Amino acid sequence: MEREIGATKRIGLVAHDNMKQDLVEWAHYNRETLGRHLLVATGTTGALLESELDLPVARLQSGPLGGDQQIGALIAEGQLDILIFFWDPLEPQPHDPDVKALIRIAVVWNIPVACDRATADFIISSPLMTSGYERKLPDFDAYVKRAIRRR
Ligand code: PGA
Repeated sequence: MEREIGATKRIGLVAHDNMKQDLVEWAHYNRETLGRHLLVATGTTGALLESELDLPVARLQSGPLGGDQQIGALIAEGQLDILIFFWDPLEPQPHDPDVKALIRIAVVWNIPVACDRATADFIISSPLMTSGYERKLPDFDAYVKRAIRRR
């Protein structure tokens, strides 16, 4: 099964506090490209990006208050095409389980995820950013229909 992604991508952006500068710099550099897509972000990251880039950014809750889970829900609902997630590899977060869950759900649904600037550079400069793309959906049918033992 596939899901068609249009030329306009829905991009989720999340950065932990120590990584926000990195994300802002990256977003500045790619402002023109980002402006052609739909941006959604966790609360503080979104506020920062909106003011720095002067582009509309749909803002969810702050990450530790449920924003990461909201981004994950968008992925599960098929409403997000790309995730740029600069998580902090050197500092534990109050919402570490949410961080793991977000990375996990992105892989479950075969969403491209950038956790650092180099990967984000490769994604944003991909020719697929300007064309449609058939994203393969894993076949979860057998899983969904699995037999559950009942007593
Ligand atoms: P924030 O959340 O954008 O509200 O800071 C990011 C996060 O920590 O997940």
